[in-house]
Amino acid sequence: MKTQIFIDGAYVAPTSGASFDAVDPSNNTVFHQVPRGDATDIDKAVKAARRAFDEGPWPRMSGTERAACLRKMGDLIAARTDALARVEVMDNGKPLPEAVWDIEDTAGVFHFYADLAEGLDGHEQKVPLGMEGFTSKAVKEPIGVAGAIIPWNFPLLMASWKVAPALAAGCCMVLKPSELTSVTALELGEIANEAGLPPGVLNIVTGFGPEAGQPLTEHPLVDKLAFTGSVPTGSRIMATAARDIKAVSLELGGKSPLVVFADTPVEEAVEWILFGIFWNQGEVCSATSRVLIEDSAYEAVMERLVTEARKIKIGHGLDEGVLLGPLVSKSQHDKVLDWIETGKREARLVSGGGIPTGLEDGCYVEPTIFADVPEDATIWTEEIFGPVVCVKPFKTEEEAIRLANDTRFGLGAAVMSKDLERAERVARAFRAGIVWINCSQPTFTEAPWGGYKQSGFGRELGEWGLNNYLETKQITTWD
Ligand code: NAD
Repeated sequence: MKTQIFIDGAYVAPTSGASFDAVDPSNNTVFHQVPRGDATDIDKAVKAARRAFDEGPWPRMSGTERAACLRKMGDLIAARTDALARVEVMDNGKPLPEAVWDIEDTAGVFHFYADLAEGLDGHEQKVPLGMEGFTSKAVKEPIGVAGAIIPWNFPLLMASWKVAPALAAGCCMVLKPSELTSVTALELGEIANEAGLPPGVLNIVTGFGPEAGQPLTEHPLVDKLAFTGSVPTGSRIMATAARDIKAVSLELGGKSPLVVFADTPVEEAVEWILFGIFWNQGEVCSATSRVLIEDSAYEAVMERLVTEARKIKIGHGLDEGVLLGPLVSKSQHDKVLDWIETGKREARLVSGGGIPTGLEDGCYVEPTIFADVPEDATIWTEEIFGPVVCVKPFKTEEEAIRLANDTRFGLGAAVMSKDLERAERVARAFRAGIVWINCSQPTFTEAPWGGYKQSGFGRELGEWGLNNYLETKQITTWD
């Protein structure tokens, strides 16, 4: 585990010489010291990225050359899967199989963008003009220096969603991981060096939001900001970026609905409801935290849902068969428990709602289900970001769509019905960027990811993720 930040191809001590605790949420003990970067380190990192972009080989290399390096990074990550996953269990709390899945996915993201980098070679689009004597074409170029700020729920995976496409495009960058889960992201420096990434192309500065994140958003030499995190921070970043007209993409929070029609087999509905909200401790931006069930199926689905939720094994992420680990931190734990107290006043608690017996030393919360939640309840409207689901019956398709869309967020949405025409109709009526039919949460590197409304703008993953880091230039010739 690294104790220094990564600037210009080398691990260096932060200017402050200070560090902060990495805490294992399963028992609230400190397991590592993370370097505490600040505005001076950010300045050094951005200047290194700027030099690498303006003078270095990376943006001038062919896509195929960059692809070789990205592919190697993917291979090196894959080779370290077990070690990185175990660190993420300690840092974030998630169960080991999910952590392994995340790291495998992270390697896959690097491999995917290696392929897309190759596709950039020779890519130019002829632009037909309405006037004779001129020809025009559009070419793509890297946007410049990117600043990436990420959250704590999928530590290395969230880094890869920004680092891999930015590097594929030919950008140079500074990554600021979450102060709650910085440890695996710092390993990317060593991986980049082993893969032969030129110095300064990727810089990693760990630290707190106001001390390291804010200076990155303010830095005049940054061309593009890519942020994943909460709505208030996203709003602040957008306001700061406005001063210098930096390009911004924002992946923010959600309060995603899952609509279950009565023709869905009860077991299938329950399986996806459970996965949709309790996977990764419910600390998932697209978690289907609002469930709408057609009234004729409401009782049967609720009964099975409660029975199955009580069977979920809660415990340390390294223990066999555990499906729900601790929440990421003491403050997140307190926050979710506060929401549950609010929920008890606003709706009917039908399962969970407390700290599991015997696990009081860690940040554990039982899978929690609220039924008959009123539309104006704050647990129905606000993101809780924990293993808490709100359920409500509906009578008609129109009512389900209205309730699903009655939110300031628009990240995910899901619908379950054996009538695929109806499911498709509802899917199209959702005001959300990611829609699942007869499932919830499966995420594919190839498909666009991002939100409507206050869930942000811009799309990550797939070719859309690459476009975030590309400029389009027209070259017009008078023949
Ligand atoms: P957060 O906004 O508190 O922090 C996110 C990052 O921003 C951290 O690295 C933090 O240090 C940094 N930051 C904080 N203040 C800053 C400032 N003033 N300037 C610059 N950077 C600053 O969010 P979080 O608690 O880490 O993550 C949870 C949130 O992220 C939830 O709302 C969740 O829905 C969202 N999220 C969204 C997606 C998505 O793809 N849409 C994915 C994961 C998480």
